[in-house]
Amino acid sequence: MFKDPPKKNLGQHFLADQDIISKIVLAVKPVAGDFLVEIGPGQGAITFPLLKKHGALTVIEFDRDLITPLMESAEGMGDLTIIHKDVLKVDFTKLAADRPAIRLVGNLPYNISTPILFHVLEHAPVVRDMHFMLQKEVIDRMAAEPGSKVYGRLTVMLQARCEVTPLFMVPPHAFRPPPKVDSAVVRLVPLAADKIHIKDAVLFENLVRDAFGQRRKTIRNAMQARATSDDIEAVGLRPDARAEQLPVTDFIKLANFLTSKPPATT
Ligand code: SAM
Repeated sequence: MFKDPPKKNLGQHFLADQDIISKIVLAVKPVAGDFLVEIGPGQGAITFPLLKKHGALTVIEFDRDLITPLMESAEGMGDLTIIHKDVLKVDFTKLAADRPAIRLVGNLPYNISTPILFHVLEHAPVVRDMHFMLQKEVIDRMAAEPGSKVYGRLTVMLQARCEVTPLFMVPPHAFRPPPKVDSAVVRLVPLAADKIHIKDAVLFENLVRDAFGQRRKTIRNAMQARATSDDIEAVGLRPDARAEQLPVTDFIKLANFLTSKPPATT
């Protein structure tokens, strides 16, 4: 039923290793009543086992050539809802209306994995958890500790909003065609609203972007458009520190200080 060759521009690397597929389904562990949504079902490698196990699944797929084959192949397996759309245009908050919080699953198209993560984060209050296959290098960045070479904007933005748990590695030969890089599966659990202490999300995002814009600069120089040395010192940080040395909580502390600071009078 699936006749077309994989499309490189849509990041199509289809999972072909049954053990890995079983490990993903086990990690998700759906229970009755869960609202499961898969991003990029492709030829159904994860879709069909999840559908058979859970009885219902919503999938978001951009490739129109996959829609009919997916529908036909899923017949008799359960209740499959297909949203034929670019996932970056899906309003997850609307999708979750009157339903339980979404449990997202996906072997993501690697070419747009970071935009997908940031898009989903915008809807974090309606997302219960996420199980994503990504490039291992991206998961290393997501889970990095301060001081690590790969600690950066993605780390801070994700860890400020989610618990990040790398689960297991997946080698290239688990896919058809094999990607050039190692992959891994990660679990992300958005923090409860009362555990996110960011007062102004936009200011926080801009501050983190500036801080890592030029990694080798001190934070005083990198953040000079938004914070003075006095601001940085007021929250107990050293202006000559570098962004990669600061724990996530320090970025939140500084952003919140700037949010609460009265505007300068001239
Ligand atoms: N889940 C399947 C598997 O594991 O074999 C396919 C994974 S493949 C890495 C990524 C899937 O995402 C493909 O089916 C691709 O067509 C789909 N995709 C790519 N860009 C997309 C987008 N913007 N919105 C929704 N789906 C997209």
